[in-house]
Amino acid sequence: MNYRRLGNSGLKLSELSFGSWVTYGAQLGDDSARECMAAAHDAGVNFFDNAEVYAKGKSEIIMGNVLKKLGWRRESYVVSTKFFWGLNDGPNEKNTLNRKYLTQAIDASLARLQLDHIDLVFCHRPDPETPIEETVWAMHDMIRAGKAHYWGTSEWSAAEIMAAWQIAERHHLAKPVMEQPQYNLFHRQRVENDYARLYGDLGLGLTTWSPLASGRLSGKYNDGIPKDSRATLKGYAWLAESVLDPVKLKQVRSLAPLAADLGCTMAQLALAWCLKNPNVSSVITGASRPSQVIENMKALDVVPNLGTDVMSKIDAIVGVPA
Ligand code: NDP
Repeated sequence: MNYRRLGNSGLKLSELSFGSWVTYGAQLGDDSARECMAAAHDAGVNFFDNAEVYAKGKSEIIMGNVLKKLGWRRESYVVSTKFFWGLNDGPNEKNTLNRKYLTQAIDASLARLQLDHIDLVFCHRPDPETPIEETVWAMHDMIRAGKAHYWGTSEWSAAEIMAAWQIAERHHLAKPVMEQPQYNLFHRQRVENDYARLYGDLGLGLTTWSPLASGRLSGKYNDGIPKDSRATLKGYAWLAESVLDPVKLKQVRSLAPLAADLGCTMAQLALAWCLKNPNVSSVITGASRPSQVIENMKALDVVPNLGTDVMSKIDAIVGVPA
């Protein structure tokens, strides 16, 4: 495993990390989550991603139980969570980044995770109704209280990230250190174009999500929807529809010979491609079973084989953002 700095911060994250969206609670209970986390840890993963909203809090409970059971030293791993959607319906309990919600949400997450601090806390989406200044102060105070080490954003626009950073700079507050955007062969615009200036100007780090586009880039949907896949879960009809998109399926099928030439799986090719981008601090992988974790971690060996010729062939298949 290689470890990359989270942007300009001094924190080092494993370049492949492991997250719990969809899987924890819906597909994995304590025991199977423990097997997956242990497999990731064995491969050198030191960053485990979570969010308050995943399985309505259950994902944090499972991860907390697993961390307790595995007994790793707290200093040796990095845990994240994210706030925005909330778990209740009140006007100050959902779709907000106001001070009241954030201040209470962190305490509830700490309790579910059975931890006394969380390393990375993300504002899961922008909140157009709360002044960014109020959110920046709340995140700063969370850090000052010792409940979080670093804060960042997820799926914020470049302008929103810049505004938060400048407020923090002006008032000498803790700055947003990282952003968590979607990044995969189908979804490149934000990371490659929109944020281009933020890496150098702000030292922004990235922990990127859905590197396999919810499994689609593994090629598992090329012949229909497998029974044990995410696309069959209740509430994932949107995914079942999108995995059958003929344009994307054609692109995935066209990538298969490249993977075969490199002697790797499609999933490993897609993950290695994300790792080629030096602005990515950590690619957050997802898996519903340990065998997937083990396969995915071997993507590290594929990275050196992605020369300019292979990268150009990939661009020709999936297209480059304008
Ligand atoms: P991926 O796009 O990599 O999808 C992971 C899923 O793909 C697995 O659960 C599994 O699903 C399938 N899969 C994984 N490996 C293989 C393989 N080798 N062969 C075949 N199928 C495979 O990542 P996620 O969408 O899970 O996102 C990763 C993490 O990013 C999340 O856990 C979360 O922490 C974070 N995230 C953050 C978001 C944000 O808004 N900030 C949004 C979404 C995710 P199956 O059960 O079908 O086999």
